[in-house]
Amino acid sequence: MSRFSPLAAILIAVVIFALDTLTTFDMAIAVLYVTVVLLSLSFATRKGLLFIGAICIGLTLLSFAVSHGENPTSDSTARCFVSLAAIGITTLLAYRVKTAIAVLGESEQRYRTIFLATGVAILEMDFTAVKAAIERLKADGFTDLRTAAEVNPDFARAAIGMMRLTNVNNTTLTTFKAKDLDAFKTALPALIGKEMEGSVWALLEAIWDSNASFESETMMNDLDGNRISILYNVAMPHDRPSLDMVLVSIVDVTARHEAENELHQAHAELAHVTRVATLGELTVSIAHEVNQPLAAIVTNGGAGLRWLKRSEPDLGEVETSMQRMIADAGRASEVIKRLRALSSKATSQTIPVNLNEVIRETVVLVQRELTNQRIDLQLELAADFPSISGDPIQLQQVIINLILNAVQAMSDPAIRTRKLLVQTAIAGGVAVTKVRDTGTGFAAETAASLFDAFYTTKSNGMGMGLSICRSIVVAHGGRIIASSEPGKGAIFEFTIPLQEEVVS
Ligand code: ADP
Repeated sequence: MSRFSPLAAILIAVVIFALDTLTTFDMAIAVLYVTVVLLSLSFATRKGLLFIGAICIGLTLLSFAVSHGENPTSDSTARCFVSLAAIGITTLLAYRVKTAIAVLGESEQRYRTIFLATGVAILEMDFTAVKAAIERLKADGFTDLRTAAEVNPDFARAAIGMMRLTNVNNTTLTTFKAKDLDAFKTALPALIGKEMEGSVWALLEAIWDSNASFESETMMNDLDGNRISILYNVAMPHDRPSLDMVLVSIVDVTARHEAENELHQAHAELAHVTRVATLGELTVSIAHEVNQPLAAIVTNGGAGLRWLKRSEPDLGEVETSMQRMIADAGRASEVIKRLRALSSKATSQTIPVNLNEVIRETVVLVQRELTNQRIDLQLELAADFPSISGDPIQLQQVIINLILNAVQAMSDPAIRTRKLLVQTAIAGGVAVTKVRDTGTGFAAETAASLFDAFYTTKSNGMGMGLSICRSIVVAHGGRIIASSEPGKGAIFEFTIPLQEEVVS
């Protein structure tokens, strides 16, 4: 059609010009030039349209000059103006239509380019049947999807079957190892395994609530049978309420997850190394903690022997000596057990942990440091403190780090008052642990950097202690913050949710 349009437009223009110039009808024949302008819409560019409009105006004026040039009447002049106005307005409107078409075309082109070239898998889907099924459930009187699911537990699976795939981009095919659209279309329901059903239920809930978008992370299979971790987003624009055009974008995050796992592994190793390094700092305390009961065992052993060797052995005293020896040996082995736990490379475990207990055990390990530095320790541990779910070794590492930092912050001889306060409390559903010292403190502007890896102000510092404390606390679902009034000491406070499952 458009191939013939330029010719048709020229012919029509010629006929109109002839009629307008040669006939004497009492009507504005030149108005018919608007058909030429409208015909040109299908083949002319925007500039071309203006040019054609100008030619039509030129022809109208030429006809007027030829037929009425000598003695124009007011009627013929008015008709000429009407024609000129009609052509002018039509040309401008046609120009604007053409501009709108061009913009639409450009955005369509841009979308196509993004669709084809992006590294994200994009699926164009039609959820009309799913939406209709949800509307039917609502019409049946269900007020939410959960109650509907109790009656119809297979609804998610059925809904997967109702999702119609219209088109996919190349990234989708490469991500899912499909050779073409048809192969992917056929395999799609099987790629959504049991594992993904929870996520599908959440998506159906979003459709139920008429949300404009939905995002979730889950596992899918590819056509080769490999499991892949995906992050997907479903765009359900409100201007298509029937959901006949839904865009699903999928990012394969398998590699990222693997990298995260490796990072986590590296972090755990680093935490272990710093734990061992911390133990190195505590050697004096530890040696003392073990030596004391050992020396007591020797003393009690000697005393027991003496009671035995008497001409009349006093078995009662011997028994007392032996009981003391057993108690001392128990104390020594308890310390060694704690040390072994701290230096072990055991992977993280999640068990109920009593933070008060962890603090008391930690204090035993650092007691000597506190005494040497003449630090007055005050424990204000909340009574009836509930257990939290976590890794006791990791939490002990947090508390040791905070206490040792406090000890170091108070080691300046100029600091006379040396008080260390360790508090626990429950506030707003979280367990709060505070470690407060009367050391040097720090400037407010450095508060955020303290937790950065390798941030240290100590000549022999590693700058890893607080960074590891933070990652342990965050892995337990909590937060750690530091505050200080320079000269008045520092407060480190961390929270652990009471019912939180551990992420790591
Ligand atoms: P390191 O102890 O190896 O320096 P940390 O990550 O444990 O590494 O601490 C980082 C920095 O935070 C310390 O160098 C110190 O400047 C500051 N800091 C930590 N705890 C305290 C505290 N209780 N009082 C004042 N400054 C502190």
